Amino acid sequence: MHPPRTGRLCDGKMLTMVDAIRTKWMDPEFRRDPKTSHFCAVCQRDLKPGQPHRRVLFTLDAYAAVHAEDWDRAMGPTGEGYVIEAIGMDCARKLGLEWTAPAKA
Ligand SMILES: [Zn+2]
Repeated sequence: MHPPRTGRLCDGKMLTMVDAIRTKWMDPEFRRDPKTSHFCAVCQRDLKPGQPHRRVLFTLDAYAAVHAEDWDRAMGPTGEGYVIEAIGMDCARKLGLEWTAPAKA
């Protein structure tokens, strides 16, 4: 267990931020077997080289996507328990773009 991460509000009160991490179940599709190592984390369809996609950060235990604004806090110093993978544009739109981040160029 990590100790709770805290921040300090402007009036000096301590704020525990662990509970503020928003997650959403990705509803992944495991019936399909990807043929390459570059595939959508939700529908498991292969992404062609250069095909537009985004990135999704999710928990390995529950396949819960983390809201893009909460990535830094969710990852913490180690990122343990989380993984960032590619997500196709269709699945990113279905999940909500705010739950994903642009792919690195
Ligand atoms: Zn997909």
